[in-house]
Amino acid sequence: METAAVLRRDPGTAGPLCPHCRHYQFIAFKNIRWQETPKDTPGPERIQAAKNTAHYVCEKCGESIENDSRAWMLQNGKWKAVKKSAFKPQKMGFRLPSWHSPWLTWGDIAEKFLKAMQAKDETGDTEPLKNFWNGWGAEPWKQIAIITSESKILSARCELPPQVVPREAVALTCGIDCQKQGFYFVVRAWAKDMTSWLVRYGFFLSWEDVHRLIFEDTYEIEGSGMRASLWRVAIDTGGGEGEGDRSMTEEAYSFIAQCGKGVFGFKGSSREMTGKMKLTVIASKPGKKSVPIPGGGLRLWVVDTDYFKDLFHNRLQIKVGDPGAVYLHHDTDKDYARQIVSEEKRRGRDGRYKWVRVRGENHYFDAEIMASCLVDPVCYGGLGVQKASIMADHVSQGQQSTKQRVIKSR
Ligand SMILES: [Zn+2]
Repeated sequence: METAAVLRRDPGTAGPLCPHCRHYQFIAFKNIRWQETPKDTPGPERIQAAKNTAHYVCEKCGESIENDSRAWMLQNGKWKAVKKSAFKPQKMGFRLPSWHSPWLTWGDIAEKFLKAMQAKDETGDTEPLKNFWNGWGAEPWKQIAIITSESKILSARCELPPQVVPREAVALTCGIDCQKQGFYFVVRAWAKDMTSWLVRYGFFLSWEDVHRLIFEDTYEIEGSGMRASLWRVAIDTGGGEGEGDRSMTEEAYSFIAQCGKGVFGFKGSSREMTGKMKLTVIASKPGKKSVPIPGGGLRLWVVDTDYFKDLFHNRLQIKVGDPGAVYLHHDTDKDYARQIVSEEKRRGRDGRYKWVRVRGENHYFDAEIMASCLVDPVCYGGLGVQKASIMADHVSQGQQSTKQRVIKSR
């Protein structure tokens, strides 16, 4: 690892030189490209293909820079500070990523990265990837801890029977994921301190069932003789314009608009967002600007799902009894757990970490995200607007709290 003490990070002022457009630039990993091979290509073949085709793409002109121009690019680079201020030093020392080393080819870098990724995929060992970024990339390694085993998810089960609300809860939220074949939902109970319990989850075939879930079904409040109904509901409206199933989106729009207060549309944002969620009002049917939605339109939350997926996984790892911990009801089964671990965080070609589906169905995970964003302060004040509710009146003092009685310790 070399140390370049006098470099500035201003684009175009220092770093290796593009042989095509003479733009100075530090080499960014995201601009090292290679030919992707079909998914079923065996590992060694895939890595060899990447190694053979790896090249660099200039950040300015987009031209390819092959290995034979690599040495020239580095030799003709500008490695000194270009500006000096009279008032404060503009010099900044930082470590240069290894891909500035003249001893490596683009293929070497691609190979090192793909081998590290392979180790992670095959054995779950993240050490090589960590070394790649820390040692080679000079980028601090950051990754949230993600639970990837079903049994670990199921260790969040507690003694709470299904369809029963703990006495500490102040509200119930529900997330519904709409699929062509039906509706996956979760009902989650929340305490003031953001501790939460999965009360119910399941699959319905029709909008009639969904209607009953929202407006008729109630849940026993543990030991109180009272029953609680849903406070807020989020329904996924599908991919929206240009993608997904438009007729499903249209059905969801009409349904939500007729539900009124407390029932919201939900749409995961595919773009980078400035906030974690944003409210929009949809006045007309999807793709038909002139056809108004009956009932005066619907309220749709556009949500940064990556943020809430991080949050859900972080909360799953909070110690039993601590505020914000996530619990599952006693009978939660493998089907639920499998869907929660269906996604993992992967580093994309743009260098950013994104949640991606790596195995099986992910509908309960999506439904959990919807149920979670409804209690966020950004969503009409979240749980903050809930008074200590009728349920709190029924908390008997001195009894052991449900959340302390977890089946297996985590
Ligand atoms: Zn260029």
